[in-house]
Amino acid sequence: MAKLTIREDNCKGCGLCVAVCPKKILQLSKTKFNKKGYNAVECTDQAACIGCAMCATMCPDVVIKVER
Ligand code: SF4
Ligand code: SF4
Repeated sequence: MAKLTIREDNCKGCGLCVAVCPKKILQLSKTKFNKKGYNAVECTDQAACIGCAMCATMCPDVVIKVER
């Protein structure tokens, strides 16, 4: 199982990672705001992550780290 680390305070809520995830397990939080005031990304099902790192590659702010 891959491990996702999300530095959510660096997220600007652009949604690029959400769009690119083949497992559709990333979403912008509907309830939580980060320090910058954005709805930060969160993973809805860590166990379903296949570790493809598409999210990490897409993120312009290097918010997501994927370890396999
Ligand atoms: S590593 Fe791949 S499957 Fe896992 S959250 Fe990122 S895009 Fe989705
Ligand atoms: S691509 Fe990066 S900045 Fe954009 S929503 Fe995803 S984690 Fe946040």
